[in-house]
Amino acid sequence: MKKSKKKNTMVGRRGFLKSAATAAAALVTEPGIAKAQQGAEHSHEHQAVPSDPTLRVKALESLLVQKGLVDPATLDTLVEAYEKKIGPQNGAKVVARAWVDAAYKKRLLADAPKAIAELGFTPGQGEDMIVVENGPRVHNLVVCTLCSCYPWPLLGLPPLWYKSTPYRSRAVIDPRGILHEFGVALPDDVEIRVWDSTAELRYLVLPERPEGSESLSEQQLAALVTRDSMVGVAKVSLNTGGRA
Ligand code: FE
Repeated sequence: MKKSKKKNTMVGRRGFLKSAATAAAALVTEPGIAKAQQGAEHSHEHQAVPSDPTLRVKALESLLVQKGLVDPATLDTLVEAYEKKIGPQNGAKVVARAWVDAAYKKRLLADAPKAIAELGFTPGQGEDMIVVENGPRVHNLVVCTLCSCYPWPLLGLPPLWYKSTPYRSRAVIDPRGILHEFGVALPDDVEIRVWDSTAELRYLVLPERPEGSESLSEQQLAALVTRDSMVGVAKVSLNTGGRA
């Protein structure tokens, strides 16, 4: 009895490893990081890849709730917060304020957590934060080479490509190539600075204010600021906003 149970466990684990390997291989062989963010636009199905982790999360949640370790209402509140309240729109407000208020920008670059708290946003996990400013000669790019550390209170949950192995490794090895794949072509004389996030320290890019935006209000400016521009894989233009 014991033996057959062990055997089933082994088979189950083997099955899981096989599917995990398939998922990892699919991710690694994806031709280009930027393609990962275009998943929603694909016309064909990728159902086989995400189903296993999704089921496992669901099973874990059910077990924790069943054992009384997690309150389902608290989980719902958290999920709703990250779906509706916490996202790139928060970071966009910080960026827009820095663009219109030079004194605020100075405070933001000197002590980001304090300046961000002025707008009502606080660190979710007690982490420190640094804001790095893009300019005509410097472009900043954020990555977490170890896992997926990300400025959650300002950007919400990280996108799939941010967590992918190709992005995490190539952002350091070939940042100019990564940026090119995201559609950002930088002149050779622009220095690229790559910032490696950790659990204790997260980074947010303050993108350049786009040309021609002089007459826009702070609110209109915030609408132009995208998630990707605050990670450093995009620039802000008068045509951006309302998407990643
Ligand atoms: Fe991480």
